[in-house]
Amino acid sequence: HAKEKGRNQVQLFENGMNIRAVNMMKISGELHQALEKNQMELYYQPQFSLSDGKLVGVEALVRWNKPGAGLVYPGDFIPLAEQTGMILPLGQWILESACRQLQLWHARGLGPLRMAINLSARQFRQPGLVQDIASLLDKLKLDPESIELEITESMLMEEMEMAVATMASLSSLGIKLAIDDFGTGYSSLAYLKRFPIHRLKIDKSFIKDLARENEDAAIVASIITLAHSMKIAVIAEGIENEYQLQQLGRQACDEGQGYLLAKPMPAEEIEPLLCQDFRYPVLRN
Ligand code: C2E
Ligand code: MG
Ligand code: MG
Ligand code: MG
Repeated sequence: HAKEKGRNQVQLFENGMNIRAVNMMKISGELHQALEKNQMELYYQPQFSLSDGKLVGVEALVRWNKPGAGLVYPGDFIPLAEQTGMILPLGQWILESACRQLQLWHARGLGPLRMAINLSARQFRQPGLVQDIASLLDKLKLDPESIELEITESMLMEEMEMAVATMASLSSLGIKLAIDDFGTGYSSLAYLKRFPIHRLKIDKSFIKDLARENEDAAIVASIITLAHSMKIAVIAEGIENEYQLQQLGRQACDEGQGYLLAKPMPAEEIEPLLCQDFRYPVLRN
C-alpha cells in the first residue's frame, strides 16, 4: 500500500509542479554556466598499437570541474546534456577543443597522432554537423585523416538512411569512423557492411571477462577475425591486466586502450608521452 501511495504522490507532484521540467531547466542552466565559466576540461587517454606498443592516438574524454564537487565524470552529465539539448553547444566545444589541441601538438612536432572524439546521438543527427566539422578542420588546417569520430551501434540503427548519409559525408572528407562499445548493441557485423567504418572498439565488458570466460574469448576472437575480413581495424577498450593484453595480442587485435597501458590524463600530463618513440611500459622493460 505504501508503495502505491508513494507512486500516486509522485504522480501528483509531477503533474502539479512539473518537477521534472524544473529539474531539467536547472541542470541545463548549470551545464550552460559550466561551459561559460570554463569548467569543462578534456582528458586524453592514449591508444596503443599492440604489435609494437607504440602510442598511435588519444581519445578525448570530457570532465566537469564543478566547484565544490570536484571532477564530475561524463556518465553523470552527458545523458542529462543529451536530454536537455545542452549536448549541442557542449559537443561543439568538445570538437573544437580536441581539434585545437591536436593542431597544437602537431605544430610542435608531436605525433603523428590521431584524435578520437565521442559524438552523442543528438550531435550525430544534427543537420549541420558535417559542415561544422568541415569548416572547423579547414579553419585549423588540420588533416581530416587524423580525426576519428566514435559513435555507437544504436546511433546507426535509428534513422539508418540518415546515418549512412552522414557517415558517407564524413568519410569522404577523410575523417575516420569508429564504432564504440561494439558488441553491446543489436547490430551484426554483416550489417556493418552498409556503413563506412574504419574501426571497431570492442566493449570493455568483453575484455573484462576475457580472463574468466572462454565464451568471451571466443566472441572477441570472432569479432577480430570478421572485422579483419571486412578490412576493419579493431581496438580493445578497458585493458586492465597483462593477461588480457596477452590474449588480445595473440588474437591479432590491432590496438588497445586501458588503465594497464595509460589512464586518461590532462593535456599537460600526456605531452611527455607524445614523442614518437613512446611505447607502453609493459613492452618497454
Ligand atoms: P567510452 O567512449 O566508451 O569511453 C571509455 C570509458 O572507459 C572512459 O570513461 C574511460 O575513462 C574508461 N576507461 C578507460 N580505460 C579503462 C579501463 O581500463 N577500465 C575501465 N573500467 N574503464 C576504462 P569516462 O571518461 O568516464 O567516459 C564514459 C563515457 O562517457 C564514454 O564511454 C563516452 O560514452 C561518454 N563520453 C566521454 N567523453 C565524452 C564526450 O566528449 N562526448 C560525448 N558525447 N560522450 C563522452
Ligand atoms: Mg569512446
Ligand atoms: Mg567505449
Ligand atoms: Mg563505454
